[in-house]
Amino acid sequence: MKINSDFLNLKDNYLFAKVGEKTAAYRKAHPERRVIRLSIGDVTRPLAPVAIEAMHRAVDDLSRKETFKGYGPDRYCYAYESLLESIKGSYARKGVSLSSDEIFVSDGAKSDLGNLLDIFAKDNTVLVPDPVYPVYVDTNVMAGRRILYAAANEENGFLPMPDGAEADIIYLCSPNNPTGAAYTKKQLAAWVEYAKARDAVILYDAAYEAFVTDDSLARSIYQTEGAKDCAIEICSFSKTAGFTGVRCGYTVVPKALVREGTSLNRLWARRQSTKFNGVSYVSQMGAAAVFSEEGERQIAENIAYYRENARIICDTLDKLHIAHTGGKNSPYVWMKCPGGKDSWAFFDELLENADIVGTPGSGFGKNGEGYFRLTAFGTREDTLEACERLRKYLGD
Ligand code: PLP
Repeated sequence: MKINSDFLNLKDNYLFAKVGEKTAAYRKAHPERRVIRLSIGDVTRPLAPVAIEAMHRAVDDLSRKETFKGYGPDRYCYAYESLLESIKGSYARKGVSLSSDEIFVSDGAKSDLGNLLDIFAKDNTVLVPDPVYPVYVDTNVMAGRRILYAAANEENGFLPMPDGAEADIIYLCSPNNPTGAAYTKKQLAAWVEYAKARDAVILYDAAYEAFVTDDSLARSIYQTEGAKDCAIEICSFSKTAGFTGVRCGYTVVPKALVREGTSLNRLWARRQSTKFNGVSYVSQMGAAAVFSEEGERQIAENIAYYRENARIICDTLDKLHIAHTGGKNSPYVWMKCPGGKDSWAFFDELLENADIVGTPGSGFGKNGEGYFRLTAFGTREDTLEACERLRKYLGD
């Protein structure tokens, strides 16, 4: 027996563990202080009432033999048609037309981001933005793939553009975690052109698309002409509708996406029907309700709440003359550590002097060094209190 030795090449995933450890040690040493976490990528608002009602109804269905559900329908890899119709409706409102067999319902974006790699050969080269959600790097290290990095920095507004790198699989995350930067439709057109010229495939992570309000920015890569020939889009109800604990997402693999004469849609359908047995009926019914007219209204209220938190954080940083990006079409605010400090030094300083926990940018890639991520997913009270503390500590 031999292990997959590629796993030994993984770096310790110490970012959130270290944040947690340091916070716990600090709390233990200072039990009298109220620590505020602006580090969390998890949501804090309860689910929209339409989703709750739909899930209650789904539980009732399971309690009666006439309406009981076992495995989901296998026609669409165990996705219920009502959910597929909802997702199609949401895409149609963005001007994108999809068929049901191009949408694959999942238990969230993270699983699909990893699982999708099954359909690509090991000797592909991947291009990953730096800094970015660490899952893209780790899943490819596990698979033993060669990884190139596209630097996201102040010069390019944290939005790297194609620079001729010889990549076969290209990750884009927009709005980005952690920088909050989001591509315009025009910028995505350049990525699509580049991918097509190389016969590469873009894996487009749209987990935060619901936070986009600016019309020039993309909410889906398929709003860009020609993207169906070269892009897979990974989406989630987690941040859109507070489903981080419920678990439901969806991935779009267009039928027009063909490489080496093979439809990637067919490969993915084959992979899913072999290794996956679908998402719970209850989660799917809750998710289907999210994209109803009333559901869209209710989730917009939650998103507006987080957006206001982001505005409060950005205003505070503006007043403190601290450079930052994101926060406008994203729940993440990416700030430069004051005084040229490194990310962990600023983490310690903020915790000790203001009882605030953020996330050190260096944990998202080497270009994140010297930056710090604050999130808008906290409560309004905590956000206001944290900003007051920032003003007191970092102000003149
Ligand atoms: N993609 C990005 C960029 C994320 O930040 C996250 C979660 O934080 C995910 C995907 C995972 O989402 P899900 O909860 O759907 O697995």
